Amino acid sequence: MKNLWTQEEAKNYKSDLEQRVYTSNLLGRSDELVLHGGGNTSVKTVIKGEDILLVKGSGWDLVSIKEEGFAPVKLDVLLEMAKMETLSDKDMVSQQKVAMINKEAPNPSVEAILHALIPFKFVDHTHADAVVTISNTTNGIKLIKELYPNFLIIPYVMPGFILAKQIFDDTRGYDWDKCEGIILHNHGIFTFDENSKEAYDKMINAVSLAEDFLEKNASIKIEELKKYSFDFELLQKEVEKEKGFELSLHINQSPIALHYASQDNLRQKVTQGLLTPEHIIRTKRNPLVLEKGEKIEEAIRNYISEYKKYFESYKKDEICLNPAPNYAVIQNVGLVSFGKNEKEASIINDIVSHTLEAVLKAENLGAYQAISLQDCFEMEYWELEQIKLKKK
Ligand SMILES: [Zn+2]
Repeated sequence: MKNLWTQEEAKNYKSDLEQRVYTSNLLGRSDELVLHGGGNTSVKTVIKGEDILLVKGSGWDLVSIKEEGFAPVKLDVLLEMAKMETLSDKDMVSQQKVAMINKEAPNPSVEAILHALIPFKFVDHTHADAVVTISNTTNGIKLIKELYPNFLIIPYVMPGFILAKQIFDDTRGYDWDKCEGIILHNHGIFTFDENSKEAYDKMINAVSLAEDFLEKNASIKIEELKKYSFDFELLQKEVEKEKGFELSLHINQSPIALHYASQDNLRQKVTQGLLTPEHIIRTKRNPLVLEKGEKIEEAIRNYISEYKKYFESYKKDEICLNPAPNYAVIQNVGLVSFGKNEKEASIINDIVSHTLEAVLKAENLGAYQAISLQDCFEMEYWELEQIKLKKK
């Protein structure tokens, strides 16, 4: 993948925080690295004699983040928090807030403790398509190990405190100088360095390695296919009934979307899960699938009853989200994303477009295998995600 760093641009960014802004924006410019609020970055610096972690604030996108988008948190407090046995994510967020030296700044990323634990100045985290594509396969654990022999590799755990704790436990007495980065299975990748350009270069190089591997071993051939007609209006009307509000539809009939929607055994192929866990908030785990000849009303009814079954199997005391689908895969027609406005529909379409490429490529590596239903549920009903949604 392309390295976007230029001397010309970089010379305008001098302080630690300015440099942090620049390479964060660069990461954000590549949508094969992060999409819509995904990923996070940080820099460790000294402010008024105190060690401070400046970490991406929630609500900011890497592509457009500015200096005020970073939350300044006392580093020693974060490192103390990592030593705690248990901590709810809600309490973690409030303790992080207390440790901020500027109360006007946004809430720090939920990965702030993890950033603090990595003993390098600049830390970059993305959900790079190529890396998660390889990780999300039945052979993922073996393939990632072979591709990244000098990386710390962490099996999937829930983001937030549990993940920070896992890294804390796994790196006691660890020789960080030999570590080229971290791969979080089914989630993403971290690179880091004392220098902002080096940390960014390491990200681009590591992801390029995965891209080259996929190019060689998993490239997909897209044929031109016949596109069937479809009653989008009826679909919209029926989904609106279940959502309880008017929808914007984003229809995607690109060659690859049509290819994806024209596979045999469609339902099984397109309900294999997420590219990276946080996508569940936008897309839900599964799309509505309409195979040839299926009635729209009936398919929606089945979708909703499946969703309720999933909720009932894993719920503790959560309240069920609206069970209607957030997008549909329609056989021989393409994809349709449902948003409460155009922007939301197009965000869902972006996420699904990246996911489908991964699913198609993964098939050439064995089969796609993302996080389990249980893990999906924990993410979808994570208290912090619930709070985020409410704010929006
Ligand atoms: Zn992440």
